[in-house]
Amino acid sequence: MGNRKQESMSFREGVDRMVDRATLAIGLDPDLARMIRACNAVLQVKFPVRLEDRVEVFTGWWATHSAHRLPAKGGLRYSPFVDQNEIEALASLMTYKCAVADIPFGGAKGGLVINSSAYTEAELRQITHAFAMELARRDFLHPGTNVPAPDLGTSSREMAWIADTYKTLYPEDLNQDACVTGKPRNRGGIAGRTEATGKGIQYALREFFRHADAVAAAGLTDGLAGKRAVFQGLGNVGYHTAKYLSEQDGVVVTAIIERDGVIVNEEGLNVHDVKQHLAETGGVKGFPGGVYSENGADALEMECDILVPAALESQIHAGNAMRIRAGMIVEAANGPVTYEADQILRDRGVTILPDVFVNAGGVTVSYFEWTRNLSHMRFGRLQRRYDELRGRELIATIEAITGHRVPEEMAQRVSKGASELDLVRSGLDDTMRQAFQEIREVLKAYPAIKDYRTAAYVVAIAKIAQSYYDLGLTASPKPVS
Ligand code: GLU
Repeated sequence: MGNRKQESMSFREGVDRMVDRATLAIGLDPDLARMIRACNAVLQVKFPVRLEDRVEVFTGWWATHSAHRLPAKGGLRYSPFVDQNEIEALASLMTYKCAVADIPFGGAKGGLVINSSAYTEAELRQITHAFAMELARRDFLHPGTNVPAPDLGTSSREMAWIADTYKTLYPEDLNQDACVTGKPRNRGGIAGRTEATGKGIQYALREFFRHADAVAAAGLTDGLAGKRAVFQGLGNVGYHTAKYLSEQDGVVVTAIIERDGVIVNEEGLNVHDVKQHLAETGGVKGFPGGVYSENGADALEMECDILVPAALESQIHAGNAMRIRAGMIVEAANGPVTYEADQILRDRGVTILPDVFVNAGGVTVSYFEWTRNLSHMRFGRLQRRYDELRGRELIATIEAITGHRVPEEMAQRVSKGASELDLVRSGLDDTMRQAFQEIREVLKAYPAIKDYRTAAYVVAIAKIAQSYYDLGLTASPKPVS
C-alpha cells in the first residue's frame, strides 16, 4: 500500500475541519466547535523493557479526546509509524463515532511504536504488560475512565495480556474485566466481537440499500447483489466485510489490495481463499484465482460500484481523488479519505459512507462487552429458556385453535430462545440502522447538507453539545442563527 501523500494539513487538522464544517452548516456557536475539537488529555510514555539479551525503550501514547461521557473508548494501535498527531486524530474520530452510534462513551485512542513482527510472542507479552502498567498507574487504564480495544496490529491476545496486567495491579476491583474490550471469549469477551466491525459494515450497507432514493443518488442500481467491490486491506475489518458481503449478499469482490500489490478477478475472488493465501505467504502475489499486479495504489482507481478502503488513513488523497471511479466509498478504515480528497469527491458527486458511521460496529459490540462485564453475566442467560417456553406455548395454542400440527421445523424457529450471539447481532443491526436513519433525518432537515459525512458529524455534534449544555459548560446547544 504505502500510498500516503503529504497533504497541506495533518490528519488531526483534517478531522477538526470536518467538525468546523458541520458546526457551520447548522449555525452552532464556533466556541462550541472549539470545545468539542480539543483533545482533553494526552499521555506520552517512554518505558524500558528488559528483553532477553538487551534493554529497549518504547514510546507509546494514550489520548483521551473527550470525557463528556466516561469511560473514553478506543482501540490500541501497534505500528512502527504511529505518532501523536495520528493518535489524537483517531481519538477524536472515536468521540464522534460513539455519538453517532449512540454509545455512551467518550473517545480515546492508544498507540505504541513497534514493529511487532520483529519480536517473539513472549517479548510482545512483556512489552504489552509494561505498557499497560504505565497506563494503569496513571489512571489511563480503568473500567471507568479509559478502556482500550483491538485496533491495527493488536487483537484479543493483547487485550487478554492487558486485562491480566490490570488484574495483577487491582485484584480487588470487582469490575476488572471491563478495563479492556475485545478479550478472548473465555477471558470475559463477548460473542461476535472479533467480526463486529465487518458485520456492522454489512448491516450499514444493507440499510443503505433499503432506501431507493439514497441508492439512486449514488448512481447505483437497486440491491446489493451483483455489486462489484474493490477492497483495500484484508485485515480483520476488510476480511470480515468482504467475506460477509460476498457470501451472504452476493457482492462480487473484483480486487483485493494488500501490502505487496493487488489481485484482480472480474468474475469475483474467493475471499476465504485469498485470506488463506495471505496467511501462508504474507501477500496476495501468486494467488492462483486472479491476476496479480504489484501496483496496489493504482487499483484504488479501478472502476467499481463500491470501494472499501479497510487499511490505513489518508489512502485517498488530493493526488488520486480525481481518478477514483467508484460509485460509492465505504470507509471501513478510520480516516481513509483526507479532508481535501473528501471535498474533491463531494464535488464529483461520489457517495461516501463515513468512518464515524459505517465502522462503528466494533465499538458498539465493545459497549455490549463492557456492560456484560459489569453485569457479570452473559446476555440471554436469564430469558433464553423462558422465551423458548413461551414459543412452545404459542405453538400449542395455535395447534389447539386450528386443529392442525405446526411442522417441527417451523415450531423450532418460532420457539428458539436468543443466544448471546443472536442478541449481539440484533443490537448491532439496530444500532447501524438507527444511526443511518438519524443521519438521513439531518439531511432532510438541512437541505444545504448534501453528504453523509457532514450529516453524521451534525448528529454527533448535536449530541455532544447537548451533554456539554447539561453540564452547564455551554449556554445553549441550539443553533445561534
Ligand atoms: N479500534 C476500533 C475502532 O477504531 C474499536 C474501538 C473499540 O472497540 O473501543 O473503532
